[in-house]
Amino acid sequence: MQLFYSQDYVRAAHAFDTTRKAEWIAESLEREPVADIELVAPEPATEAQVREIHDEAYVTAIRTGEPRALAESQEFVWDASLWPAVLASTGGVIAAARAAVRDGVAGSLSSGLHHAKRGRGDGYCTFNGLALAAKLLLREESTVSSVLILDLDAHCGGGTHSLVHDMPGVRHADVAVDPFDFYTPTPPHTLRFVRDAADYLPSITDLLASLEAEGTQFGLCLYNAGMDPYEGSKEGRLAGITRDVLAERERMVFAWLRRRQIPVAFVLAGGYTGPQLSEEGLVALHRLTIAEAATQGA
Ligand SMILES: [Zn+2]
Repeated sequence: MQLFYSQDYVRAAHAFDTTRKAEWIAESLEREPVADIELVAPEPATEAQVREIHDEAYVTAIRTGEPRALAESQEFVWDASLWPAVLASTGGVIAAARAAVRDGVAGSLSSGLHHAKRGRGDGYCTFNGLALAAKLLLREESTVSSVLILDLDAHCGGGTHSLVHDMPGVRHADVAVDPFDFYTPTPPHTLRFVRDAADYLPSITDLLASLEAEGTQFGLCLYNAGMDPYEGSKEGRLAGITRDVLAERERMVFAWLRRRQIPVAFVLAGGYTGPQLSEEGLVALHRLTIAEAATQGA
C-alpha cells in the first residue's frame, strides 16, 4: 500500500499537531514498520488545481500572506513555508485517491482539510483536499462515476459540505461528536451527530447500512479518518470513545469497504495532543487506521 508523505508536509513554521504529526507518524513507521507499506512523496498540488475549489483571492493570500487575516483564517500564524506545505499535503490526497483507484487502497499523512471553505480557511484547515480529490477523480477516472466522502472526524465537515453538496457524483456522509462547523445537510448528504459514546459505533454501522441500501456502487471512498473523537483528545473528544472503540471503528469501515469492493484513500484528519494524549499516544491512534488499511489489499 502506498502511503503518501514528504517532509514538505511539515514545513510551515507554525508548530501544531496539524502541521507536525505527519512527521511523527512517518518516523514511527521507520522505527516500527507496518508490513506492506511504502512511503511515497507525492507531486505537490498546483495552484491551478487548488483554484478549482477555492477563490483566487484566498489562494493568493495563502501564497503571499496578504491580506494577513485571510492567510491566517485557518488559525495558523502565516509564513512563506505554509504554501509549499499545504500544496504538498493537498497533493498527497490527490495522489492517494489516484493510487486507491489503481491499487484498491492508499493513504496520505495529510490533515487539515474538511473545514476549509471556498473563500477561506477554518479550524486548522487550509485547502479542502477532500473536495478537490473528489472533483479531479470524477473528471479523470472513467471507473469513478461516484465518490463517497466518509468523514468520521470528531467535528462536522461543514467546509466539505459547502463545496460538494451540489457536486454531481459526490455523496458526503459525516458522523460528528462536536458541533464545530455544523451544517444542515442537503439530501442525499447526511450528518449524524452523536452525543453518547454508546451510540457511536451503532451510528456508523447504521450509516454504512443505509449507504448500502441506497444502492450506489461508489468508485472511490475518501475517508477522513479523524482520531479526535478519542476521549483524551484535547479537542473534539467524547467520554467513552476509547482506543478500542476507534480500533473497532477502523475494522468496521475497512471491512465494509472491502466487502463492497470500494477503493479507499484515507487521510489523517483530527487528533490533538494535550494533558490526556501524548505525541506517542496520538501516533498510536493514527496507526490504527494505517494498520487496518494495510490489511485491505492482502
Ligand atoms: Zn476534528
